[in-house]
Amino acid sequence: MIDVHCHLNFHAFEKDCDEVIKRAFEAGVTEIINVGTKIDSSEKAVELAKNRENLYAIVGVHPHHADKTQGSNNNNVILGSGATPESPTAIRDSGQARMTEDYWIEQLETIAKSSKKVVAVGEIGLDYYRYKSNDIVDPKLQKAVFIKQVELAYKLKLPLQIHNRQAGKDIIDILINHKSYLINPPGMFHCMSGDIDFLKKVLDLGFYVGFDGNVTYKGIAVGETTDLKDLVRFAPLDRIVVETDSPFLTPEPHRGSRNVPEYVIIVGAFLARLKGVTFEKLKQQTTKNAHFIFKL
Ligand SMILES: [Zn+2]
Ligand SMILES: [Zn+2]
Repeated sequence: MIDVHCHLNFHAFEKDCDEVIKRAFEAGVTEIINVGTKIDSSEKAVELAKNRENLYAIVGVHPHHADKTQGSNNNNVILGSGATPESPTAIRDSGQARMTEDYWIEQLETIAKSSKKVVAVGEIGLDYYRYKSNDIVDPKLQKAVFIKQVELAYKLKLPLQIHNRQAGKDIIDILINHKSYLINPPGMFHCMSGDIDFLKKVLDLGFYVGFDGNVTYKGIAVGETTDLKDLVRFAPLDRIVVETDSPFLTPEPHRGSRNVPEYVIIVGAFLARLKGVTFEKLKQQTTKNAHFIFKL
């Protein structure tokens, strides 16, 4: 099994990241893809992948952090790890204050090019859900930041890993408008949600869909209309990939504790039952799908 979307680059794994990786590989996970959500966590994902076998990285700015790309100068830009305006990191190595609004996308490009183990641009997209900790970022800004990254991915010939929460219509509109910027295959929607009609549009555009531990939860999530299990049943097996989104979305029966990549096996087993195939078949096909999308 491959975990195509997790965040071992996040604080939750600071203390025992290598132990968590080791346990995952011992449990039968073959590859792990860590995903950035801003500049510093993207750098961290690349750093993790550089030094470890079978680890890969996806780099990007999540819609939650779209507002942190703004500022009249770079002091407000999401800085690289350890960077301050006074002591720039290697990425901010020009030594001069760069006054361009797009400095963040240049940083992202530098990070993306820094290692062959960067396999996609993500998680990028739109998020219109009102979280307690994070109010909705101005949708106009979210769209601008998303589009810049779609264009960067095209330039680098990398697929997209898309985050969508209650913004499916706008994401589809943007992708259709930027169809000439999509490579083949164009990438995947991570943590798939929405209704069957939306799923059809995603598949029609050539995207794959990722499912997480929340497929094991009972009922329908707040603001959604369709049971995730129905999306799984509808999606063809040759377009599905499996992920954990660790440390979030822990599958049953571990819900309530920290999620880890080894639980991708629990998610895979649950998906196999929904699809009416053996775990072996599910594992083989989803691995093939992930290898195809990310050219692993
Ligand atoms: Zn996400
Ligand atoms: Zn995520």
